[in-house]
Amino acid sequence: MTSCPRWAVTVSAGLALCAAALVPGTAAAAPAPPAPTSASAVGGDALRLPTGWAVRRTAVAERTGLRSPAAAHVRRAIDPADHTCGATQLSGYVGGLLGGLSGSALQFLLTSGALDFPTYDALFFGTSRDPRYAPPAQHRAPLTRAFRDAQRFWDVPSGDIELLAMHGTVLQDRVRLTRLLTVVYGLDRADAEPYASAVVDTLAQIPELRGGDHPIFTLNAFAFTAEGQSDPFVAALPDKLVFGDGILDFLEHAGLGDVGARAVLGHEFGHHVQFERDLFASPLVGAEATRRTELMADAFGTYFATHKRGLALNARRVVQAQQTFFEVGDCGFEDPGHHGTPLQRRRASEWGAALAARARAQGKVLPSMTVARQFDAALPGLVAPDAR
Ligand SMILES: [Zn+2]
Repeated sequence: MTSCPRWAVTVSAGLALCAAALVPGTAAAAPAPPAPTSASAVGGDALRLPTGWAVRRTAVAERTGLRSPAAAHVRRAIDPADHTCGATQLSGYVGGLLGGLSGSALQFLLTSGALDFPTYDALFFGTSRDPRYAPPAQHRAPLTRAFRDAQRFWDVPSGDIELLAMHGTVLQDRVRLTRLLTVVYGLDRADAEPYASAVVDTLAQIPELRGGDHPIFTLNAFAFTAEGQSDPFVAALPDKLVFGDGILDFLEHAGLGDVGARAVLGHEFGHHVQFERDLFASPLVGAEATRRTELMADAFGTYFATHKRGLALNARRVVQAQQTFFEVGDCGFEDPGHHGTPLQRRRASEWGAALAARARAQGKVLPSMTVARQFDAALPGLVAPDAR
C-alpha cells in the first residue's frame, strides 16, 4: 500500500501512521527478524518474552496502524547514534523523562511492548462510559465542552464518536493486560497471565516509571474510525478520539496548558471530518497524500479552534500549539518524503486561522466541504518551498 490507512490517524503523521494496512494474520505469516526472547534483567530478574513476541507486536501494529511514537526516543536514549529525530521541544522533554533510567529499564520499554499497551487497550476496550478511560480531572470539563462544540460546529454526523483518555495505569492491571494479550495479541491464557504479571512486576522494580503512570506510555493522541476496515473485530469498534495523559503533560510542559489540549482536539476532530467526508481520497499517494491530510487537519483544527462560533481561542496560541503537537511521532524533517515541515504545518494552521478571521464579521461557519475545497486550492502554496 502506498498511502496510509485512513482509519487510524495519530496526532501528526509519524511512521506509525504509515504502517501498511494488512489483514490480520498476514504479518504473522511473514518471515520475522530474529527476536530477543528476553528483555534485559531489571533488578536481577529477566523478563521472559512470550514466544514469537516481536512478530505478534508487528502484526498488532499493522492491524491498528498505531505504534508508540516514544519508541524512537527510547532507541535514541539507548544509542545516541540512532538519531532520526532532530532536537525539538519534544526531544528535550522526552530526554528529561528518560534521564536516569538504566540501560536495562530502557530495554524493557523497547522490547516488552509496554509502550503500546495503553494505546491498544484504549483502542480495543476503552469506552467513554468507563471511568477508567475518563480524561484526567483538570482536563475533563474543558475537553468535553470543546468536543461537544466541535460536534455542533462541523456539519458531519459525529454523535457516535467517543472521547476518551488512555492512562498508563493499565500497566498495573493484570486482568486488563491479560485481556489485551489474549484478545489482541492472540496469546493463550497460559502464556498471557504470567507475562502480564511479569510486566507489572518488572515495572514495580523501576520506581521512576511509577507503575506505568508516566507520560512515556501515553505520549500520543489519535482519531480512529472503523469505517472501511476489513478486520471484523476492528470494524466493530466505535469511532474514537483518544487522548493520552502523556500528550497532555507534554503540552503543559511546552507552556501550552491554556490552549494545547483543545487545539489538539481540533486537529483530531478534523480527521473525523475527513473520515466522514471521505477526504482521504485524492490523486496524491504515499507521503504526499499523508502530508495533505495532516495539513488539512491542522487547517480544520485551527479554523474550528479560532472561529468565534467554534472555540474562539487566540490564533497565535493555537498555531503554536499545533506546531508543538506535531513534533510527536514526526521527526524526520530533513526527509523529502516527510509529512509536512514545521513551516508547512504553521502555514496550514495560519491558513485555517485566516479563514476563521474572515468569517468573523458575519459569524458564519462554512460547510466542511467548502473548507476542504478551499484548502485543496491553497495547498500548493502552503507546501511551496519558496513560500514564506
Ligand atoms: Zn493528524
